[in-house]
Amino acid sequence: MKYALVTGASRGIGRAIAIKLAQDGFFVLINYQSNISAAEETKTLIEANGGTAELLPFDVADGAAVEKTLTEWQAAHEDEYIAVLVNNAGIRRDNLMFWLTDEEWKSVLDTSLNGTFYTTRTLVKYMMNKKFGRIINIVSISGVNGMAGQTNYSAAKAGIIGLTKSLALETAKKRVTVNAIAPGFIETDMTKDLNQDELKKLVPAQRFGKAEEVADLAGFLASEKAGYITGQVVAISGGL
Ligand code: NAP
Repeated sequence: MKYALVTGASRGIGRAIAIKLAQDGFFVLINYQSNISAAEETKTLIEANGGTAELLPFDVADGAAVEKTLTEWQAAHEDEYIAVLVNNAGIRRDNLMFWLTDEEWKSVLDTSLNGTFYTTRTLVKYMMNKKFGRIINIVSISGVNGMAGQTNYSAAKAGIIGLTKSLALETAKKRVTVNAIAPGFIETDMTKDLNQDELKKLVPAQRFGKAEEVADLAGFLASEKAGYITGQVVAISGGL
């Protein structure tokens, strides 16, 4: 059985991806930061479907904690390795540039961009040694096209896109693919404060997407069938 780590899997898109990967036969490591009850609920949903999972909490923005937790996991699972890494944990702290505080800038970059770096640096070496791996980074249309009020978030996501493209070139010959998924508006806690009725008029498909739709794409990119796709940014945005 292959192991998959999904960061930020307690809620939203991460939870849906964790459930999908478990359905596809992976043992899922459910990462989260603080919401243990939501993480337990993800695990219960997986087990109710006959899947297997365990909780693996850490703050992705804390490089030392990431390294320690994942190195300890590896030491306890000598014959195994994490074959699929989904870097999904992320936060929004929107503000116009001239009001943007250091904390709003730093927290968003620390979680998304630095978090992706810390988990990936730790796990990619095992994938390359085993000559198989899948790294899937959840970015955003905001990091591709830009979005007013999201310079911090767009910068973080655009940074991950650069990381994705460069790392894909480093790992392709070891059968480790690295891709990014760029969602548009998806119904989760992150978007619950947005005016969906107004914003959906901007979307050609005239609706917000579902976390499960993102999860189906992640499931495909994680599969053996997606072995010739690497270094790509795949949008899932209803045409936005
Ligand atoms: P969400 O519902 O707000 O869930 C965020 C998840 O990230 C939670 O599981 C949370 O854990 C975890 N998390 C936050 N900070 C963390 C940290 N420092 N360490 C570990 N885990 C952390 O968000 P979502 O909408 O599902 O978004 C998931 C990803 O998709 C994000 O990267 C987001 O930028 C991206 N995205 C979302 C949309 C959208 O419309 N929703 C669009 C484009 C891209 P706790 O439960 O412990 O807090």
